[in-house]
Amino acid sequence: MTGTRVHTAPWVFTGERVVRRGAVAVTGAKISAVGTLDELRSAGEVVEWPGTLVPGLVNAHTHLQYTHMAALGQGTYASFEDWSEAFEAEYSRRDGWRTSAEDGLAAAISNGTTALGDVVTHAEALNVLADGRVHGIAYWEVMAWHDADWAVRGRQQTLDVLAQATGAIGLSPHAPYSLDTGVLDDLGRLARELGLRSHVHLAESAAEHEYVFQGAGALAEQWRDWGYGEFALLRGGGAAVRAVTYAGTRGVLGGHTHIAHGIYVDAEDRALLRSTGTVVALCPRSNAVLGLDAAPVAAYLREGNTIAVGTDSLSSSPSLDVLADVSALYRIARAQGYTAPDLHSRLFAAVTAGGAAAMGLDDRLGSLTAGKLADITVVGIEESTAADTLAAIVEAGQGSAEATIIDGAIRFARESALMSR
Ligand SMILES: [Zn+2]
Repeated sequence: MTGTRVHTAPWVFTGERVVRRGAVAVTGAKISAVGTLDELRSAGEVVEWPGTLVPGLVNAHTHLQYTHMAALGQGTYASFEDWSEAFEAEYSRRDGWRTSAEDGLAAAISNGTTALGDVVTHAEALNVLADGRVHGIAYWEVMAWHDADWAVRGRQQTLDVLAQATGAIGLSPHAPYSLDTGVLDDLGRLARELGLRSHVHLAESAAEHEYVFQGAGALAEQWRDWGYGEFALLRGGGAAVRAVTYAGTRGVLGGHTHIAHGIYVDAEDRALLRSTGTVVALCPRSNAVLGLDAAPVAAYLREGNTIAVGTDSLSSSPSLDVLADVSALYRIARAQGYTAPDLHSRLFAAVTAGGAAAMGLDDRLGSLTAGKLADITVVGIEESTAADTLAAIVEAGQGSAEATIIDGAIRFARESALMSR
């Protein structure tokens, strides 16, 4: 691509500053300058957008291949275990994972998403992000292995799948309860050896705590019923520590990892996540569908954890619109007594810079900065002040994506946005 395009809108929120009648100059796949339209008008062809230009939105936790399982996500469930039963029944009789993932990716892009943390369980869906020319990481998910089977077959199968990746790849030990203890240890080692980032579901249900702490409770019974009673935690009556501590002792936490959910955590757990540099991707709408409690959003913010935002998949969430989860987080934080005036900017940061940090992509993504990749979301929201505009995006941004620019290419644009140019 040659030449420079100058994208402009009534507001530009770079993630670091706000520019009225701002502009972002894009040369090739990268941002070459950020300023006012007056400053940058002569740099190239001017492209006018309505509303506000923001850094490309990051969906830090999803499973695109479950997009065709949307009927499950429209339901409500009494417990995590109830949803898991319904999920397993549906999952075991499905195929067509590649098409399902592609449909999910198209939906995510049309909701302003430019980078995703996508958890993959079938090799046919492994390269959907790479083939779809979006940013992020495809995390190969490993679950339901006993230590013995893992050593004989599981490890090699995993390496064989990883070898098929054509784009950025990571490892996802599914959760502390769905893998035997030695497998968790080995996945931690493998990620470090291969220099891969990792991603794990953690502290998602109260029953997970009971399982990890004492090898008992509804989730432990479910996994015994499913034939995993030989897992060390189930055999030995638990680890007598909380799930986050357990994950830490198994080498799962660290600056190369982000976790999904992080609901059932106490102050010590949150401190461990901070001290290990582990980012938390919060998925509030999925949590609500599964009948779980809300994550301690206010505490995470007050204590200074780095948070990101995920939709989770359509099998547990109503849409792949990550701004709807941002609004849910806003309501939860307020209800939990978070009254500081920075709430809008903190949640805006979560869905942009926080998501980039979760996947170690913050040197290239997460803000509109000269030198970074030109991932820009056009949000069709414009109020008379910057503060009101930011508040509207955070509190009611659902469905407001007007256009999505990835690596400088316009990948989605509503008719209305094109007409206003
Ligand atoms: Zn998930």
